[in-house]
Amino acid sequence: MALNWISGKIERKTVWSDGLFTLAVHCPGVSAFEPGQFLQLGLQLPEKHLHRPYSVASPHGDTLEFFIVRVDEGELTPKLWHLEVGDRIDVSSKATGSFTLSHAPDSQTLWLLATGTGLAPYIAMMREPNIWERYEKVVVVHGVRFATDLAYQEELQQLKERWPGRFVFVPIVSRTVMEGAIPGRITHAIENGTLEQFAESKITSESSVVMMCGNPQMLDDVEAILHTRGMQRHKKNQPGQIVVERYW
Ligand SMILES: Cc1cc2nc3c(=O)[nH]c(=O)nc-3n(C[C@H](O)[C@H](O)[C@H](O)COP(=O)(O)OP(=O)(O)OC[C@H]3O[C@@H](n4cnc5c(N)ncnc54)[C@H](O)[C@@H]3O)c2cc1C
Repeated sequence: MALNWISGKIERKTVWSDGLFTLAVHCPGVSAFEPGQFLQLGLQLPEKHLHRPYSVASPHGDTLEFFIVRVDEGELTPKLWHLEVGDRIDVSSKATGSFTLSHAPDSQTLWLLATGTGLAPYIAMMREPNIWERYEKVVVVHGVRFATDLAYQEELQQLKERWPGRFVFVPIVSRTVMEGAIPGRITHAIENGTLEQFAESKITSESSVVMMCGNPQMLDDVEAILHTRGMQRHKKNQPGQIVVERYW
């Protein structure tokens, strides 16, 4: 299906670390969407229109946020990295995707697992009241390589203060030691029990829904672990506990 484009203007650029950034793009006219859905961002090159999908890291509005990592050998992201405030960027007018809370079942605890920029859809979800009305407890698990890749820290801290006992943020850092973070990878932290200890909750099919987004290896490995606990993908005609978004 042909995409319709809105010419957006970069209103803000936040650089979290080298190659890791958020673009806030003023692009009024994007149709209403659900937190967790994605849009296409694109640039017109002399030879073609180059575009890729990006989760929107904010709820619907005139200005939308995108949390992006530069893939050095990639085609689009090195170009996006060089954009500055005032530059134009094409934004598709209609979001798609089923990585949303309306595609997740009810439960007591909602686990939101992300590697890298896989955090984006959760930021959008947590800015809306729905998530806090539906789940007693929300645990965001952010797996990164370096402590400097832990973006959105201020906002996550504010959520902890706003929802004491109901919101837990778990940083998991694989390549540096950071106080207050679990060392290693998300998969290991589930297998060795440190994640559940940190969050003071158990991941069980009776009490939990697990959404996960980001690196495909993490998604496959975590899903395999959850299968051993009797958890399955959630489908319309076959209720389960796992909802997945693959970035590549
Ligand atoms: C539904 C969906 C939502 C997405 N949302 C986001 C988002 O919010 N933020 C974001 O940064 N990316 C997101 N992506 C990935 C994004 O669409 C691009 O694939 C990515 O930005 C690379 O584009 P590129 O043109 O620079 O590289 P390309 O030239 O397209 O690809 C080069 C290769 O890089 C690898 N790659 C892709 N993404 C990554 C990554 N994040 N880290 C390491 N290697 C990667 C893949 O193997 C890919 O084949 C999303 C993808 C999908 C399918």
